[in-house]
Amino acid sequence: MTNGPPHDDVASLTEKAYRAISGAIARLELKPGEALTQDRLAKWLSISRTPVREALRRLEQDRIIHTAPGRGLVVSELTIKDAEDLLEMLALLDTHAAYLAAQRRSPAQADQLVEISQMLLVAAERNDLAAWEEIDHPYHETLLDASGNLFLRRSIEDIRRRLQRLTYHLAIQPEHLIAGTREHVAVAQAISERKAELAAEIMRQHLETMHTMAMRLIRTHIVPVRGERF
Ligand SMILES: [Zn+2]
Repeated sequence: MTNGPPHDDVASLTEKAYRAISGAIARLELKPGEALTQDRLAKWLSISRTPVREALRRLEQDRIIHTAPGRGLVVSELTIKDAEDLLEMLALLDTHAAYLAAQRRSPAQADQLVEISQMLLVAAERNDLAAWEEIDHPYHETLLDASGNLFLRRSIEDIRRRLQRLTYHLAIQPEHLIAGTREHVAVAQAISERKAELAAEIMRQHLETMHTMAMRLIRTHIVPVRGERF
């Protein structure tokens, strides 16, 4: 038998590398346009090159990074137009997802969503961003599961991955974190009460605020984008 880690280990290291690299891109530790090398990333993460290569392949599929002629893999930039278009789509899709979730959720999904939203609020009140991020993911997963539309879910996940740089920098502002989390709680409550119109309306307002705040981050150069700024 040959050595080398069993498949599970490679898969979990790939997942770890994917999360670490996409997290660094969201936090702008890896900047838009910056070149990425397998060796440097493997050294940074203290893992072998195989899972790093796999993680980079997934990030390229997700269009978070791309191959630039003569430069290899680089962190994808966002233009103002991209950010505007993505936020506009997210508002449409997430609003509809909340509406469908209120109509289609199972009793278990309703309980789960309310419970997760309460945990999210505890994390926000403690300003524990690491815990908050860990909980925000299952919140949206549960909501999208409850919406019962796989393609809607995939589209929303794709958009959210590309907006991470903006959503991360919104979340690190304590007032925004608390206000945004209260909206998560209110959406969960409306879904559990099967109030579809209300769930959709709160979600629509939540994303409208997010859109305004995200544009402010771009305008004040906190999150760099390519091209003209207003
Ligand atoms: Zn969220």
